[in-house]
Amino acid sequence: MSKAIQAIRGMNDCLPNETNIWQMVETVLRRVASNYGFSEIRMPIVESTALFKRSIGEVTDIVEKEMYTFEDRNGDSLTLRPEGTASCVRAGNQHGLLYNQEQRLWYMGPMFRHERPQKGRYRQFHQFGIEAFGFASADIDAEIIMLSARLWRELGIEDVVTLELNSLGSNEERAKYREALIEYLTLHQEKLDEDSKRRMHSNPLRVLDSKNSEVQAVLVDAPKLSDYLTQESQQHFASLCQRLEAAGIKYVLNDRLVRGLDYYNRTVFEWVTSSLGAQGTICAGGRYDGLVEQLGGKATPAFGFALGIERLVLMLTSLDKAQNIRPQVDVYVAMLGDGVDIKANQLAEQWRDKVQDIRIQCHCGGGNFKKQMKRADKSGASIAIILGEDEIATQKVTIKYLRERKEQQSMDFNQVPAFLETLL
Ligand code: ATP
Ligand code: MG
Repeated sequence: MSKAIQAIRGMNDCLPNETNIWQMVETVLRRVASNYGFSEIRMPIVESTALFKRSIGEVTDIVEKEMYTFEDRNGDSLTLRPEGTASCVRAGNQHGLLYNQEQRLWYMGPMFRHERPQKGRYRQFHQFGIEAFGFASADIDAEIIMLSARLWRELGIEDVVTLELNSLGSNEERAKYREALIEYLTLHQEKLDEDSKRRMHSNPLRVLDSKNSEVQAVLVDAPKLSDYLTQESQQHFASLCQRLEAAGIKYVLNDRLVRGLDYYNRTVFEWVTSSLGAQGTICAGGRYDGLVEQLGGKATPAFGFALGIERLVLMLTSLDKAQNIRPQVDVYVAMLGDGVDIKANQLAEQWRDKVQDIRIQCHCGGGNFKKQMKRADKSGASIAIILGEDEIATQKVTIKYLRERKEQQSMDFNQVPAFLETLL
């Protein structure tokens, strides 16, 4: 036998026993996005490498070491998208959706990063993202964070997630802070690790985000970005906080929260959980007022976030929230006797015509009653509809309950559709 080919490390199959929880999550994400009047946008998975270098920043983990970049047959440098915001802005600019307009968009799909695969961290993973363009004030920041909070409520995980907030100020404010931070870090360089030393000049704010505890100890007395914010930025942030409080959304201020992508300004936020181990961030985003212009468009304020669907699914599974999800099959049709299968299939077709959302699986391949009931059980269906020669003669079916202690019952053919409606 030849050796079987395996999937690429860190790129997972989503198997049939997992797809129903994924579909449930995706349904909630889509529904909540439309509850706030957002429209879907779909972008290609492959883009020019330059797009990500220019937007995410050359000195970021993503661009330095995580991108899947390759030359295509024409020698053009292409990259499998590591995130959605850059593509979304590129599409918005290219199709004239952004200048002097307001857009509320969402997207969902696979992203690719060459990271070390582990729980909650993969090389192909899926994000759901929200992006709003054309809004400068904190009302949209608040509304989008409210949207994210609604997602957790709908998924039943609102008690195990925490909102962390920070303001990065404007580019000018950050530039001044950057100088002060470089000065401070230079004085303490001998206590920094290699990564932080390298970042100190190229991207010093990222040092704040270091996971190394010695580096974190050095940072305790470092200058604070909040001391460099102008009144305007402070007011923006205060307005956001006030709106969140009015909406009953609790938050924690975290002045080390800087995010791993260069394009953010003013508001940044993360939703974190302790229920996933090290990979605790399930959703992250903020304001990126400079990005549209940086990518060749006219200056347009913007705000957005992305959430990791794998991490959500992991959370829901570990918290046993996946229990009440509707199984893939509602009804299993069993059939016994000569020629009964053809009649059973005709009836099942009629039921599907009449009850649009019903999920009916018809037994195939014959076999005795015991075998058919085994399949019925395995299908996850809550009831079996049984048809035999007697039933066909009397125009009745037998309903057998598979998950409840309930007597089986007999029912006229024409009563079945109304009965199926009660299962939905
Ligand atoms: P982290 O600090 O965990 O590396 P990040 O800052 O790189 O996250 P973002 O680029 O902001 O993450 O992506 C938003 C969300 O996408 C994350 O909060 C996370 O839920 C998810 N995510 C990011 N990278 C991965 C990955 N490699 N595998 C699975 N999910 C991921
Ligand atoms: Mg990362």
